[in-house]
Amino acid sequence: MENGPTLHFLYKNDPKFLDTWKAVQPMTEKAMNFFSRNIGEYPYDQYSVIQGGDGGMEYAMATLITGGDRPGSVIGTMIHELAHSWFQHVLATNEAKHEWMDEGFTSFISALCSNEIREQNQENPFENSYKGYYNLALSGKEQPMSTHADRYDLNFAYGISAYSKGAVFLAQLGYVIGQDKLMETIRKYYEDFKFKHPVPNDIKRTAEKVSGMELDWYLTDWTQTTNTIDYGVKSVGGEGETTKVTMERIGLVPMPLDILVVYNDGSRETFYAPLRMMRGEKDNPYPQIERTVLPDWPWAYSNYDFIINRPISDIQAVVIDPSQLMADINAENNVWQAEE
Ligand SMILES: [Zn+2]
Repeated sequence: MENGPTLHFLYKNDPKFLDTWKAVQPMTEKAMNFFSRNIGEYPYDQYSVIQGGDGGMEYAMATLITGGDRPGSVIGTMIHELAHSWFQHVLATNEAKHEWMDEGFTSFISALCSNEIREQNQENPFENSYKGYYNLALSGKEQPMSTHADRYDLNFAYGISAYSKGAVFLAQLGYVIGQDKLMETIRKYYEDFKFKHPVPNDIKRTAEKVSGMELDWYLTDWTQTTNTIDYGVKSVGGEGETTKVTMERIGLVPMPLDILVVYNDGSRETFYAPLRMMRGEKDNPYPQIERTVLPDWPWAYSNYDFIINRPISDIQAVVIDPSQLMADINAENNVWQAEE
């Protein structure tokens, strides 16, 4: 690679594999550049992509990948296994004890990478991780993510917990502290903990230092419990020239709320209810839309009111978290719509 490591590709000289194993080469260079730019510089002189093994497996400075008739699948596997060079091999987390920091963070960053280098242009590249997590949360089979990898009752619960709920940990952290701060957190985490053995507290403290927020509640609830998030728009009522909105916290996990209000004239406005115990506010995630920062919501109250300075007849809809990065297990009560 230009000013970078040497990439080796070792594969069978068989015509039915050649197209795939040619296609994977420029994509490996793109993925390497993406991870070096977004996490931190790849620290070694070489990386090898090798046809073999039994599916896809990561090793330091190499991956073994089977197959070859479907380029998309080999490229997808290469992106995931290469990402492990950062999340496991250089940031050497104990992958049995904190499996979500290994497979989850790898799934997060490879979804971002895929979206960019394969030009998938998905609005939410983590959608599959969220779907997997909702499936697990509603199955009744979930165990806390802090469970040792060998101590899950079901492989299904281990897999979704490690890969999907672990990826959602970071994607949702971006919702809490803001996307720029999330990417800054990942780069600082790499810088401070490369060639060490980071534990859950290290990613939390890094995010706290970058964002200036208190995030212990997030680490605790998301990783050490099976508590879930469910917020709802409870009621919207006209009060003369103004409108009173009552929000409701139904789930046990507290969250700050982004609330979008859409008016009948097509204009939009957002309201932001920070969580009191995070002791901070994120930047406006929708800079093109005017945002009102509301008073903090102390989590123990299940209801929360705010006032919109327009009559109810102007309002078309009130929507909780239009980004859908907050992992709310019941989306149905997240939208209030005026009756036609
Ligand atoms: Zn993996």
